Amino acid sequence: VPVLSLQNVVRSYDEGKSKLEILKGADLNLYEGEMVALVAPSGAGKSTLMHLAGLLEKPQSGEVLIGGRECSKLNDDARTAIRRTEVGFVYQFHQLLPEFTALENIALPQMICGLKRKDAEERARQLLSYMRLAERESHRPAELSGGEQQRVAIARAVANAPRVLLADEPTGNLDPNTSQYVFEALTALVRASGVAALLATHNLELAKQMDRRITLRDGKVVELP
Ligand code: ADP
Ligand code: ADP
Repeated sequence: VPVLSLQNVVRSYDEGKSKLEILKGADLNLYEGEMVALVAPSGAGKSTLMHLAGLLEKPQSGEVLIGGRECSKLNDDARTAIRRTEVGFVYQFHQLLPEFTALENIALPQMICGLKRKDAEERARQLLSYMRLAERESHRPAELSGGEQQRVAIARAVANAPRVLLADEPTGNLDPNTSQYVFEALTALVRASGVAALLATHNLELAKQMDRRITLRDGKVVELP
């Protein structure tokens, strides 16, 4: 059973009187522990696909299943509840909370999902250590390097042990060496946790290190060699 399944998904936007059709029956299956690169020119619909996969938006038709459960027809509250526990997000810019330390940034999403502070911080410490950031736990985001910020953001994204990890240009802001280092840390985490990861990237060096590569062509998902 795929961890994430998009089936015949259609999504368009109104543009004045005309309709901009971005996804026209897109299909995608992601399996446990795999890393899939989404490589497509800008405007092709990568963010739209990620937002649908992450239950941030609904398709006009088609289905979005997470862990075998149909989610696209649920109401906002139900989708939010599933998103919080089943989906992790990483963005090009870290989006960490500036007033909080690295440790707190990773502990907070767990506390929002009901964990006690002590338990949330214990898991946050494990994740920081796994990302080789143990000595950085008391630093605020502005006190960390770009690569360190992204590694904290990755740790935060998996803090609630989601089934699906969606990363939109996670290394887009980093130099090539730092990108490779952050990517390797992310890969280790994916392999260890079994999360299914979809990474939108323009970095072909990283794309070719992933299990599969896909693109968007005429509103559909197409496998690349
Ligand atoms: P990508 O991430 O591949 O650059 P997007 O999914 O962001 O592509 O956008 C695909 C197209 O859909 C773009 O032409 C964009 O302008 C349009 N679009 C995206 N979101 C909206 C929206 N909320 N309202 C109207 N048009 C949108
Ligand atoms: P910076 O942008 O300052 O290089 P990074 O996030 O890339 O920050 O690295 C933070 C720390 O991780 C570094 O201080 C270093 O100890 C370690 N590190 C970074 N890149 C590598 C690498 N390629 N191999 C081993 N350790 C690395």
